[in-house]
Amino acid sequence: MDIPRIFNITESAHRIHNPLTPEKLATLGAALRLESGALVLDLGSGSGEMLCTWARDYRITGVGIDMSQLFTEQAKLRAEELGVADRVEFIHDDAVGYVADEKVDVAACLGATWIGGGVAGTIELLAKSLRSEGIILIGGPYWLRLPPTQDVAKACFASSISDFLMLPELLASFGDLDYDVVEMVLADQEGWDRYEAAKWLTMRRWLKANPEDDLAKEVRAKLILEPKRYAAYTREYLGWGVFALMAR
Ligand code: SAH
Repeated sequence: MDIPRIFNITESAHRIHNPLTPEKLATLGAALRLESGALVLDLGSGSGEMLCTWARDYRITGVGIDMSQLFTEQAKLRAEELGVADRVEFIHDDAVGYVADEKVDVAACLGATWIGGGVAGTIELLAKSLRSEGIILIGGPYWLRLPPTQDVAKACFASSISDFLMLPELLASFGDLDYDVVEMVLADQEGWDRYEAAKWLTMRRWLKANPEDDLAKEVRAKLILEPKRYAAYTREYLGWGVFALMAR
């Protein structure tokens, strides 16, 4: 079981697989006023940077589930490196339908809301693992500026404009689901650059090391097209944020 191999290639050197910087991730942890020993569940935990650094900085305990074998391995190594392997556990598995045995204080899904079939479904799934008065974290995109055409939306890797909302509408949509938005930390262009531009050097080096690989042509094409596509579209039109929610 694994995610499509292209992501394991392009994001192999990422610690954070979303446009938040390490500083913003720390800001988010501080903003949540996490108590020592708080239990955090992370669906689609990637390389584990959120749980590992929060375990180090705020002394949380955590469980992360991710379908990438590579990222899960990296998460375990990171936990050892930061000396928190006794407080965080990383499970290589499909997180679809995952409900924790023990109720958690914070239930998160950052950049992987397809796990619950979209934002609303993911909130519903996370809520099943959450203690009363616990906090749900949803990380995902919104339109910074409304794309003028469907082609512009597609160039941002949306299937259509209606995939995402503008920030005010997104915040209001959480209310429609009967949740209060109690905090948010938003990515900025610098964070997008760290997430997207970091893939380019990774791709360049991977191509040098794997010229005969089945995916070499695809990666080469991506490396040629991505910088311009990213600068023209994602960087200009797409916002990204983490929203902290509590049930009304
Ligand atoms: N939350 C992490 C990773 C976001 S990238 C971070 O912000 O750094 C999306 C992640 O979802 C990837 O790590 C990918 O491996 C994982 N993923 C994709 N489908 C999944 C599934 N069905 N179950 C669990 N993880 C999944």
